[in-house]
This record gives sequence, C-alpha cells and structure tokens, in this order.
Amino acid sequence: MLCDVCKGNIKPRLNESGAVVWDKGHNADPLSFIPNARCCDVCNEYVLQARLQIMFAISDPKTMQSGKKRSCKRQLNIIHHCIDQALQGY
Ligand SMILES: [Zn+2]
Repeated sequence: MLCDVCKGNIKPRLNESGAVVWDKGHNADPLSFIPNARCCDVCNEYVLQARLQIMFAISDPKTMQSGKKRSCKRQLNIIHHCIDQALQGY
C-alpha cells in the first residue's frame, strides 16, 4: 500500500511472530485531498503536527475575529506547509 502524502510504501505492522497485523498505515487527514487517504509512519508525524497547528489556529482569537474565510486560508497554509515538510524528509 502506498502513502497518499509521499507516495512511498506503507510498512506493515508485524506481531512478534512476524505476521502482518495492520497494513493500512494512518489516516492522512488533513495532509491529503484524496478521500480516505492513508499515510506512512513518517508522514503521520506531519499529519499530527498539522492537526495541532490547525487546532491552535482555530482557537486563536485573532483568527476568529478576522472571519471564517481567512481562517480557512490559514488552515490551507498550514496544510501546505506540513505537506512540504513531509516531502522534504524524503
Ligand atoms: Zn508518507
């Protein structure tokens, strides 16, 4: 299975006997615009960062006062920044 963010392979998770217990990686939202996107362990770090940064941006009173449109643009900027960071790691 390929990561929808970096297009690299998603490493399957194995149990102690080496059998595959999970091979679908992580939920890539919001770092991919594909529905139900999946991502690898490395990209998941950036996914978590993006979620936290968006959460802080939304709870920032300055963002709230400046209206929904700007808040969406800021979220998109955060998403693109985190995608760039994820792709630079390869
Ligand atoms: Zn990846």
